[in-house]
Amino acid sequence: MKADSGVFDALIIGGGPAGVSCAVWLARLGFRPALLEARAHIGGLCHDNPFLDEWNASLPGMTGPQVADNLALSLDQAQVPVWLNSPVQSVAPTAYGFEVAGFGLAGPWRARHIVLATGVRARPLHAADNAKGSEPVPEGVLVGPGAHIVAQDFNGKRVAVLGGGDNAFENALYATEHGAHSVHVYARSVRAQQQFVRKVPPGCVSVGGYRVDAGARSINGVPYDLILVFYGWEPCVRFADALGLHRSAQGFVATDTPTAQTSFPGVYAIGEVAQRQHPCVVTALADGVTAAKAMQAKIEAGS
Ligand SMILES: Cc1cc2nc3c(=O)[nH]c(=O)nc-3n(C[C@H](O)[C@H](O)[C@H](O)COP(=O)(O)OP(=O)(O)OC[C@H]3O[C@@H](n4cnc5c(N)ncnc54)[C@H](O)[C@@H]3O)c2cc1C
Repeated sequence: MKADSGVFDALIIGGGPAGVSCAVWLARLGFRPALLEARAHIGGLCHDNPFLDEWNASLPGMTGPQVADNLALSLDQAQVPVWLNSPVQSVAPTAYGFEVAGFGLAGPWRARHIVLATGVRARPLHAADNAKGSEPVPEGVLVGPGAHIVAQDFNGKRVAVLGGGDNAFENALYATEHGAHSVHVYARSVRAQQQFVRKVPPGCVSVGGYRVDAGARSINGVPYDLILVFYGWEPCVRFADALGLHRSAQGFVATDTPTAQTSFPGVYAIGEVAQRQHPCVVTALADGVTAAKAMQAKIEAGS
């Protein structure tokens, strides 16, 4: 559903599972939320997940894009006003709450509460790995998950995967299943689920430090056709810098555990942007509920 801008009880920034859940709950609780999403579709990282979502016990057998479609349907059924293609670029406190603006957007939008649900993005190859973050990503180096992985031709390619989490192992299996000549995982430590780790032959995993030469496309001197990078995430919150939000030791937005409120009163952070729990669809959905219920309590108490 689309709607005119105005003063809302809450503006939710980000249309992944965390933001959608929060918006739907607020609408169902009788409040007036609106949601701003930078991309052309709802679903966040779910939309980029070509695999079956096996972590969601209530929706077995669904792929990421199917989960994303369901999120969009939930917004529609709860009649939440949504603006797509609307990247937020600033959040400013005002006398009545907050004003949100973005380049080329029809706003500004005004709201009593702000919910940051903008997720994370992959950090560029780290300086410690012999490539400066500001340099363009060299050819043959794919950073983070998404459509570029699905579009990649792995046939006959020698692939190195950097990272020790679920994403690294799941995408290593994806490259193998899509015809890669060989796939080697380099992980400083292995944190991925055993269901993925078990499927990668132990000889194809190196645990410990490693040296990347992104330009020469080699790891520890071994050349590869493709290097897939799945480590190092940073929260997407630069647009909220003016609020001076407290951060966790890892750089995520720090929040109060029972309410998801940030160090700035009236501003909430949920899902991966705050990394309050293990990042996945279910915890993001739960986080949305936590923030919605905290806002309900605050609004009904008249504060
Ligand atoms: C390949 C892959 C496979 C996965 N598999 C699973 C799985 O099987 N099961 C599972 O439970 N989890 C899975 N996950 C993880 C899960 O998708 C994430 O944990 C979840 O989507 C996080 O939700 P979120 O709402 O916090 O953030 P996101 O899903 O990242 O959503 C954030 C949204 O905010 C938007 N945004 C960012 N900045 C702005 C801005 N300035 N203005 C407006 N909008 C903005 C983004 O465009 C995005 O739509 C997978 C992730 C990937 C990448």
